[in-house]
Amino acid sequence: MANLIDNTARQDARAARHPEKQKRPDTPILRKPDWIRVKAPLGKTFSETQKIVKDGGLVTVCEEAGCPNIGECWDQKHATFMILGDTCTRACSFCNVKTGLPGAVDTDEPRRIAEAVAQMGLNHVVITSVDRDDLDDGGAQHFVDVIEAIRSKSPGTTIEILTPDFLRKDNAEDIVIDAKPDVFNHNLETVPRLYLSIRPGARYYHSLRLLERVKQRDPAHFTKSGIMVGLGESKEEVMQVMDDMRSAGIDFLTIGQYLQPTRKHAAVDRFVTPDEFKAYETIARAKGFLMVSATPLTRSSHHAGDDFKKLRAARDQQLARS
Ligand code: SF4
Repeated sequence: MANLIDNTARQDARAARHPEKQKRPDTPILRKPDWIRVKAPLGKTFSETQKIVKDGGLVTVCEEAGCPNIGECWDQKHATFMILGDTCTRACSFCNVKTGLPGAVDTDEPRRIAEAVAQMGLNHVVITSVDRDDLDDGGAQHFVDVIEAIRSKSPGTTIEILTPDFLRKDNAEDIVIDAKPDVFNHNLETVPRLYLSIRPGARYYHSLRLLERVKQRDPAHFTKSGIMVGLGESKEEVMQVMDDMRSAGIDFLTIGQYLQPTRKHAAVDRFVTPDEFKAYETIARAKGFLMVSATPLTRSSHHAGDDFKKLRAARDQQLARS
């Protein structure tokens, strides 16, 4: 009986987070292979990070997306803040972030994010957001406010942003580019053929053009983008995405294994082996990316601070050679 009640409660919780997915048939959840093993969230620093996030009334993508790396990252005080609320206006079939109609923008959030960054003593911070199709600027001004608040309180902290696509927002991204975050990241997520089923509210070429626009507006910017694999894409399609990204001048590519959040989400097609990830990394480096992270547990913000140092060093070396 207890199990029945637990299961019903879990199903209700899932339905509340993803009402639009409840009519979808259940998809089978594949058993994870041995190479997908993560650290349990137990350490003292993990609890401190949790407290800072909770006390600040902040939202993290680490929790909302159910990231497998949370034990490792939070144990090192690496959290990725998700701004503009916890509710997304899109309904991507891979994503565990709650969907629905979001509330008003919290204008005090930039101050609280800046407080938390200072309190955690972060050298590098990653800021992402939900999609806010309901706002005229898609949340662009709020990104700027957060960047400025962090800069004013922690001038030595480098800032990486992972933005939505600002689709149909009349180039609202320009003010975000002009605020000069140290890294501008926007994920393509998957190959174009799978957009309709995986990322139906987005457009592949729009996302690509967004990243190209960042480079055109400010060539000194570092740009970054990532995809998930294991969704049914072919190796040739992944290589085409790499070529498209290089054409848009993207510096840093991340590739990680897709993991299915619930039975109502897109199914894992297969688990890509660590050797295949290594092969993708070799190919991507040969295509000219300054930095590549391709492992089963790679996520956009995983090791972002260390990777940013490597990215800068790679560009310095490239400039020294030219
Ligand atoms: S990889 Fe990114 S999203 Fe996942 S726990 Fe680490 S910082 Fe958070």
